[in-house]
Amino acid sequence: MNNYSPEEAKRIALSYFLNETAKCLRDGTSLNVKHNRVMGSSVWELEFKCDKCGSYGSYKPIPAPKEDNWTEDQQKRILNQYWATGNAICLNDNARLICQELGETGPARILINCPLCGRNLDSINLEN
Ligand SMILES: [Zn+2]
Ligand SMILES: [Zn+2]
Repeated sequence: MNNYSPEEAKRIALSYFLNETAKCLRDGTSLNVKHNRVMGSSVWELEFKCDKCGSYGSYKPIPAPKEDNWTEDQQKRILNQYWATGNAICLNDNARLICQELGETGPARILINCPLCGRNLDSINLEN
C-alpha cells in the first residue's frame, strides 16, 4: 500500500474539480471517487482510491477565513450565476461550487461552498 501524500492528494483534487477526471498518479487508472459532506460540518471531503494499486487519499478544503473569502460583490455575482443557471463556478479557482438550497418555507436560503479552496457564502448574509 502506497497512499497518496497530501501534495499528491491535492493534485488529484485539482484535476477532479477542474477537469472532472481523477487518475492514479502511479498507474493512470481512473480512481474510485466519493465526495461527501463531513458530518456535522459544511465542508465536503473528497476521497479516492485506486483499484489497481490500492493507493488511497483524501482532500478537504480548510474553510476560508473571512478576510480571504470572496468579497461581497463576488458573492452576489456567484449567487446571481446560481439563480440564472443552477450552477456556479468559484471566482478564485474555477471549481464547480456546491450549492445547497435550504428552507422549507419562505424565501430560499442557499449555502455555497467551494470544494477546492473552502471559500463559502450564505445567502442570508447578502440580503438587503
Ligand atoms: Zn494506482
Ligand atoms: Zn474555490
